[in-house]
Amino acid sequence: MTAPIKPFLIGGAWRTTEQLQEVRAPYTGECVARFAVPSTNDVEEAIASASVAAVEMRATPRHKIAAGLRRIADQIEARCEEFARVIAIEAGKPLTAARGEVERAVGTFTIASEEARRFAGESIPLDAQALGEGRVGWTERIPRGVIFGITPFNFPLNLVAHKVAPALASRNAIIIKPSPRTPLTALLLGEVFLESRLAAGALQVLPADVSAVDLVLRDERVAMISFTGSAEVGWRLRERAGRKVVALELGGNAPVIIDENADVDYAAGRTATAAFNHAGQVCISAQRIIVHRQIAERFTNLLVERAQSLRIGDPLDESTELSVMIDEAAAVRAESWVNEAIKGGARLLCGGARRGALFEATVLTNVHGEMRVCTEEVFAPVATIQQFDDFGDALAEANNSRYGLQAGVFTHDLGRAMLAFRTLEFGGVMINDAPAFRVDNMPYGGVKQSGAGREGVRYAMEEMTEPRLLVIDPMR
Ligand code: NAD
Repeated sequence: MTAPIKPFLIGGAWRTTEQLQEVRAPYTGECVARFAVPSTNDVEEAIASASVAAVEMRATPRHKIAAGLRRIADQIEARCEEFARVIAIEAGKPLTAARGEVERAVGTFTIASEEARRFAGESIPLDAQALGEGRVGWTERIPRGVIFGITPFNFPLNLVAHKVAPALASRNAIIIKPSPRTPLTALLLGEVFLESRLAAGALQVLPADVSAVDLVLRDERVAMISFTGSAEVGWRLRERAGRKVVALELGGNAPVIIDENADVDYAAGRTATAAFNHAGQVCISAQRIIVHRQIAERFTNLLVERAQSLRIGDPLDESTELSVMIDEAAAVRAESWVNEAIKGGARLLCGGARRGALFEATVLTNVHGEMRVCTEEVFAPVATIQQFDDFGDALAEANNSRYGLQAGVFTHDLGRAMLAFRTLEFGGVMINDAPAFRVDNMPYGGVKQSGAGREGVRYAMEEMTEPRLLVIDPMR
């Protein structure tokens, strides 16, 4: 059977081209679909259509925007199984985790629907200075207009949702360029959008080649680039973006500290999930574990036990907990970093073996700060363990990274929890949880090389709009 051809969504209509690109299932290696790659003319047309839609969106009342977003949430929910299977196939994500992602995306659109009704400006107390006495003033949030969103492969639905939902809720139009590895989920979202009754060009899904991004960067009609992906690509993009607003959600090598007084069983369970979920291909995956020496042995045994008990297999199998990485090259890279660490003196406690794109859940100890498994974003099911005696040293080690997305700290000592919160240079600090914790309305984003700006529906809505100030002197 030949793989189906998937058109792209432009100005509310599906369109195809001569240029086709394959989507291969990472688990079977099979070509599951071919998608039409938009030409530069198509991208140009999409921007024109988005500009028209942006004007319509800006004039659309809040209740209609909210209802449109609600319809999207309902449709995703109704088609949950279809979405989950597409994610499992194209991303190699185990079905149970894929269902979790779909549920979260329903939540993201639901939150956006609610935010759409109340998102507004603020009243300004102008009489704070004598010269403002008698005047009234307030701000309104003005949509930026056309936003261009670029998304990665690891959450093909919910990370697209984190751009589309706030963009629409704040009355913008958005063009999404999904990862070429996982465009099918974004195209399915395009289908759902067409039922929303929002302006036809308000969401366009263009799995364009990265070369098309240059055209977008030059186009004055595009006001903002919202990028989620690797730090390397993200920061280069920002350098080339001129006056455009650029939001960056990038990578990390998240630390988790387990203090001597922590609930060790609980911490080991949460950390294992956070380290090996979606084969570690999560930007807030627990990568650098820093554990107090007194409990290190017990914690390590529990973590290794959990790593070894993960059921490995086909992402479409209900019982699978660990499946393939996105491709063999990614698994080869992980394997080479692990081998390099072992050569440098690290001790392999479990895992380390690779079969094609499948890489076993791996735990390394005796690591030191110079190894790539510590300094870089490993983005694989690999966790490293270091020990500490002094809590302050553990915090310093956690900060010893050029990234700063989220950190986790397991401690029952309130003083240490607060010290951790004040000291850790990260966008978010999770106390008594692993760094991979995320709820979709919380502010989410990084410091240092992990990014600029915040997502989490309302926070993204703020970035996707500008305050415009009105001042009135009613007595003149
Ligand atoms: P990637 O940077 O390779 O690709 C991300 C997107 O950028 C894709 O759509 C890709 O086609 C596009 N792209 C690639 N080169 C480009 C270029 N030169 N110009 C413009 N666009 C370009 O990342 P990936 O491998 O798909 O995803 C993994 C990365 O994403 C990891 O670093 C991970 O930490 C990060 N990530 C971050 C978050 C977050 O919210 N902070 C969430 C998920 C993933």
